[in-house]
Parts: sequence; structure tokens; C-alpha cells
Amino acid sequence: MRAGFPDFRLGNVLATSFTGTLSERHGEAVERIPTPHRLVDWLGVNGLAVDSCTTAQLDRARELRESIHAAATAVAIQDALPASAVQVINDCSAQGRAAAFLTPEGNRRWRLSSASCVEDVLSVIAADAISIIAGERDGKLALCASPTCQAAFFDTSQRRTRKWCDMNTCGNRQKKARFNANQHKKPRSAE
Ligand SMILES: [Zn+2]
Repeated sequence: MRAGFPDFRLGNVLATSFTGTLSERHGEAVERIPTPHRLVDWLGVNGLAVDSCTTAQLDRARELRESIHAAATAVAIQDALPASAVQVINDCSAQGRAAAFLTPEGNRRWRLSSASCVEDVLSVIAADAISIIAGERDGKLALCASPTCQAAFFDTSQRRTRKWCDMNTCGNRQKKARFNANQHKKPRSAE
């Protein structure tokens, strides 16, 4: 199958990578899958290649994404799971017929029932979300400390002390903001 599979053992979690396709939810939100084509691209990069996607399938994918985000956020803040989100996640999980299979090298790949079956890949994402929301994997759901982001992410760090959804975006921005604030606070005579 296609090359370029990210290694999910290194802390890349499919479900929260997917929810990350809408960033800055509490600021100026950035939609990273604005068209069906962009969803196809994203799925390809994430080991779930499909040939095509309709607008209705994109809508369904975004509905699943926001449902996963809502449920993961509830877990992170120890709130009750929103029933509507659980319903969407379960429906998506049930509607796909993707099969896990093992490569000769011992890696897991997904075989879809047809090359254009977006429902199959959504079921894989939904099942991934279920495993982290149900607490079956080693890690903890947490919210990004950036006030404009607050993305739910899966913390697999040893002490569960990760603060940012992504070091390259939110983590970096915060580091820079802190640096600038410190520069500002310095008395002029000390410069
Ligand atoms: Zn963030």
C-alpha cells in the first residue's frame, strides 16, 4: 500500500490528529480540510488513502471530528460524555467495514471495502477515538493550555505533563510570547 505512514507509536494519535484539522477553535479557527480534496490528502498522509470524497462525506467527517473533540474534551475536564457526540462516534464506527491486516514486516494496515469508501476510514478514526476515550490506551486526554486553542490531545509523556497540543504551533507560540513579555519587563537600565 502507500508509503508515508506516520508512526502512531511515537505519540501520533489518529483520532486527535484528526480533531487537530480544525485549529484555534477558541480564536480565529483554521479549517485544514475545507474541501473534499483536502480530506482525501489528509487521509492519504495518515495511512487511510481513499480515491475520492463527496461533499456529503466531508460533512460527515467534520461531524465525526467535532463529536470526537466534544467527547475528548469532556473526558479531559472530567465531565459527562455528550450523548449526541457518543451517538455520532458509534454510528460512524458501525457504518464502516475496514479490516485490519498485518504486513509481512509486522505492521498494521487497513483494507477498505472499496477504494472510495470514506465511511470505512471514518469507522477506523471512530474506533481509535473510542479506544482513547474509553481509557484503553496508555496515556491521558488533556486540553491544550493555549486559550485560543484548547484542543484535546492525548498525552503519552511519562509524567503526563504535556501542556500543548503541538510543540511546533501552540508550544512555540507560547514560548515566544513569554520571551517577549520578559524582554518587555526588563528595566531599561539593565540593557
Ligand atoms: Zn494547541
